[in-house]
Amino acid sequence: MKFATYQHDGRRCVGIVSADGQSVRRLPLSEAQAARGVLAVIDLQLAGEHISPVGESIPLSQVRLEAPVPTPRRNIWCVGRNYHAHARELSGSIFKDNKTESWPIVFTKPPETVIGPRDDVVLPREAVSTQIDYEAELTVVIGRGGKDIRREDALRHVFGYTIINDVTARDVQVRHQQWDLGKSFDTFCPMGPWIATADELDGGDTRVRCWVNGDLRQDGHTRDLIFDIPTLIETCSRGITLLPGDLIATGTCAGVGMGMNPPRWLKAGDVVRMSVDGLGEIENPIAAPRA
Ligand code: MG
Repeated sequence: MKFATYQHDGRRCVGIVSADGQSVRRLPLSEAQAARGVLAVIDLQLAGEHISPVGESIPLSQVRLEAPVPTPRRNIWCVGRNYHAHARELSGSIFKDNKTESWPIVFTKPPETVIGPRDDVVLPREAVSTQIDYEAELTVVIGRGGKDIRREDALRHVFGYTIINDVTARDVQVRHQQWDLGKSFDTFCPMGPWIATADELDGGDTRVRCWVNGDLRQDGHTRDLIFDIPTLIETCSRGITLLPGDLIATGTCAGVGMGMNPPRWLKAGDVVRMSVDGLGEIENPIAAPRA
């Protein structure tokens, strides 16, 4: 199933998207539950409660999709350098060498970065950064939480998958020892278009693509992940209790702007579209800085 969070008739709703991805039916949640987006559905399922949609199907063209988890309960885990070809294209800048580490690189983005699948990514003032880049990423949504989750058990903890654009200010990313600042600007985490549950999408076997203004820039496959999804869940849960609704962005494939010669940064008026096969698409305009 595909669970979406959206605005309709002036209120936030959570619903199930039709198999053809064209319409949505609302789930009967309280206002407080709906405010949490799909997090509420995850908690209900873990409690053994099954809810069915009510009312008519509404065409998606008549709703405004929001991020499926509009406000994650805490920072989003993100994995760096997780495709060999991407590590190669950034060798000499972010990745000083081309050797694969024994452990994944993990950083986080705060919840306040999250925007919806059609919302504007707002550029920062030039004095702050002039090197804004995109990163298309399949993102794991944790269902049942746990600590010290073993690799072989990890997929049982996956509720589903969504898409994240791990928008990055490259100049800020490389200036600091840690990446968090350059990854955490306001609006730097477009998410959506919804969450596809783990029974209908194999996160380890899907295609991830990104277009800028219609030009295909990234075209990767999750079977080429250096650290696969079970390994990432095992790693992030070592000594840390993963919680229902936690998000793990699995890293981006080759084709980012920084890897081009010369690099090509995002500018106001650009449109960045990302897709994951079997999941859907997000498409975010790039907007000029705002006061
Ligand atoms: Mg990334």
